[in-house]
Amino acid sequence: MNNPIRSEFTETKIHIPWEEAVHLSEATETHHFLNDAGGIESHKTLHLKPMHCGHLVPTAGGACSKCSALICPSCLVMCPLCLGPIGPCCSRALLDVRGQEIRYCKSCYGKINRQRVLRKIISGFIRFD
Ligand SMILES: [Zn+2]
Ligand SMILES: [Zn+2]
Ligand SMILES: [Zn+2]
Repeated sequence: MNNPIRSEFTETKIHIPWEEAVHLSEATETHHFLNDAGGIESHKTLHLKPMHCGHLVPTAGGACSKCSALICPSCLVMCPLCLGPIGPCCSRALLDVRGQEIRYCKSCYGKINRQRVLRKIISGFIRFD
């Protein structure tokens, strides 16, 4: 292969609004060569970085508000208490009264769990009748 007569490198960066972080999500490398017939040949390489959840998608759904990892659109959920976007990395599931799974962020999950335990302790000592 001849030496490239021109090379291009394009990056896609995602800026996280609530912090200074900038993440590289994909990059394109293009090299132009002169071939034997004297024409110009282009070779393009697309580098995709998998999201933190392990899925390979062209654009992130957003970043986890707890650890700022990039999460794909189908894995990103919103914590119903603090309304922060969270990925599988920082969410914990709790079952609601109907047995449906609700995902909370780590800190809200901790709060709810403490309240549950507390309620159990209190109801063991005090009788509400
Ligand atoms: Zn995902
Ligand atoms: Zn939360
Ligand atoms: Zn996270």
